[in-house]
Amino acid sequence: MRVLILGGTSEANLLAASVAAAGHDAIYSYAGRTQVPVNQPLPTRVGGFGGADGLADAIRQEGFTHVVDATHPFATEISRHAVVACATTATPLVALERKPWIKTLDDIWIEVADIASAVAALPEKPARIFLAIGRQHIAPFAMRPQHAYTLRFIDAAGGPLPLPDADLIVSRGPFTLAGELDLMRARRIEWIVARNSGGVGARAKIDAARELGLPVVMITRPELPERLRVESVAEVMHWLGHRACLGA
Ligand code: NAP
Repeated sequence: MRVLILGGTSEANLLAASVAAAGHDAIYSYAGRTQVPVNQPLPTRVGGFGGADGLADAIRQEGFTHVVDATHPFATEISRHAVVACATTATPLVALERKPWIKTLDDIWIEVADIASAVAALPEKPARIFLAIGRQHIAPFAMRPQHAYTLRFIDAAGGPLPLPDADLIVSRGPFTLAGELDLMRARRIEWIVARNSGGVGARAKIDAARELGLPVVMITRPELPERLRVESVAEVMHWLGHRACLGA
């Protein structure tokens, strides 16, 4: 058995720990987006494969027998490529995908399908907005230059920000409810833009928005091709042949 973990998430990191502890031959793959990736207890590789064909070539050349797509729910390209590459090479694939957040009665969510719709959902009147989305998605918000944006990235911005009024926080999660409440109060945040990533590490901002009664423009999950999906590391370990992981 030789396992390829497509990573870059806290779930992938937890999986890497379990796979390493089980003594599997495995490689953890990073896209290479952050300057200082989290250290892994497995050998890592960094950088794209060159599309679905490149990933299929890597699977053949490296002799991977199992692929775990533990990438972020909004990382759609790599997930689509994994489906195609695994079908092409007849390699078993499982996606480790965290549950989306569910709106409660106390949440004020404006649910939209994509970034363009999120831009359109913002108010006309100038507002203070926490743009809690990845660096590569902020440029379209320049269409609404009247707002004061707070951004939060893992690394310092590589070059000028494309928004005229933007304040950047450099910080890596997980974040706490108390910390998010402090941030939103200190910056007098009025609106939040977020993607429904799900999981524990990023949800504090959603809980804080609920507590403060702030509206959240929530970008819903993108559609992905049908594939085997599980929600826990234990289920992936079970899939890899560790029956004890599910208590069987
Ligand atoms: P994406 O749009 O799906 O991927 C763009 C390209 O990056 C892919 O086509 C692939 O290049 C390469 N790539 C992505 N993930 C890779 C991986 N784990 N190993 C090797 N190559 C990878 O992904 P994204 O939204 O830019 O996210 C990039 C990475 O950051 C993902 O691994 C994801 O887990 C992590 N991440 C993303 C988010 C997010 O909000 N999207 C949040 C937290 C972490 P080739 O086509 O050349 O193979």
